[in-house]
Amino acid sequence: MNTVQPVFSFELPTRIVFGAGSSKNLFEEMNALKASRPLIVTDKGVKAAGIVDKVLAGLPGDIKYQIFDDVDPNPKDINVAAGAKSYKEFGADSIIAIGGGSPIDCAKAIGVLAANNATDIKAYEGKNVPSKPLPALICIPTTSGTGSEVTFSSVINDTGKNYKMTVKNPYTAPKTAICDSSLTLSVPAHITAATGVDALTHAIEAFTATCAEPISDAAALYAIELIYDNLKPAFEDGSNLKARDNMLMGSMLAGIAFSHSDVASVHCIAESLGGMYDLPHGTCNAIFLPYMMEYCMDYCEKRYARVAKAMGLSFNSDKEGAKAAVEAVKQLAKDVALPSFASLNVNPSDYQKIAAASAKNISTESNPRPMKEEDYMAVLEMAHRG
Ligand code: NAD
Repeated sequence: MNTVQPVFSFELPTRIVFGAGSSKNLFEEMNALKASRPLIVTDKGVKAAGIVDKVLAGLPGDIKYQIFDDVDPNPKDINVAAGAKSYKEFGADSIIAIGGGSPIDCAKAIGVLAANNATDIKAYEGKNVPSKPLPALICIPTTSGTGSEVTFSSVINDTGKNYKMTVKNPYTAPKTAICDSSLTLSVPAHITAATGVDALTHAIEAFTATCAEPISDAAALYAIELIYDNLKPAFEDGSNLKARDNMLMGSMLAGIAFSHSDVASVHCIAESLGGMYDLPHGTCNAIFLPYMMEYCMDYCEKRYARVAKAMGLSFNSDKEGAKAAVEAVKQLAKDVALPSFASLNVNPSDYQKIAAASAKNISTESNPRPMKEEDYMAVLEMAHRG
């Protein structure tokens, strides 16, 4: 029997300003939101790269702002609390995040605490925990990876449990995303690689998640095409603005896709592992993406074949296409020199703990193959064997 598309809704609360040089429009975008006294949330690496100075140089001299740069990679609950304190003490009326997913996620969480006059972000963990409206939040991504500039999620490390929790709610979506690819030219090659495969993982998981819908599918498929075609050129020549621009568009579209669909089990493992060992999120995703695709193959052969088609691969059947997609992902990870699982030195005695945490992650239910703790163990063992 033919079935029709189940009812779904699509909401994108973020205004997107896209293009090389677009961060020059910051003041105009601040005015549109009546933001006049912002807290700038960034990290020390982004500041050292000269990006914060470059962006803020475009603001009139009488604009007062405070810079908060105490954001760790895999941002922590304590970074969020410190940022919220800084917001309050400065008397800020808005937040501008300049950086990769870490400063952007931290900025979203600071906004939640500021809005609710709260001190602990853990109280907002999960989907749709009620909150007062957030202060105006403008996000300027400097990596092409997380898509956090358009997503509803903020991923924060709970330092008590060494576990990455997610605050997922449309109210955390930035009001404005200014996507200026010229700010990504300074991303080092190894971070270009890890963040790029992170974005590819978002797109593939969003497209194959159980809650995928047609609009997220459209965004995901174009994201796969852009990322697959442009990651290697951006990795090989960081000054290739066209490749950087396409990567930023790809990662943003992947962010739109997974915010409306979901991520799935690759992310669940990456977050468990990243939370426990403080490893780069993109690297963890890159390592597990091909293994998880192999493990899920029988549950979404047709969809993986469409992934292969978006990558421009030729094949004669869905089975062949699905296998080609897995092989292409493996080859891409090699081409951009991503490390192996063995090189992360994860202690096998922690596998069970990683599997248990992954099974509890809110996105496990979206994976095309139902996943229990023992399934995560099986994928960890596949990665262990290499
Ligand atoms: P990141 O923000 O941690 O940045 C990685 C490193 O790159 C940092 O040292 C930073 O200083 C440096 N860097 C950033 N931009 C640079 C530039 N233009 N030039 C030079 N150096 C630069 O990395 P990320 O991968 O963008 O973000 C990872 C975080 O995002 C993780 O905590 C992950 O869990 C989270 N995440 C969030 C979402 C979401 O929807 N909210 C989705 C996926 C991942």
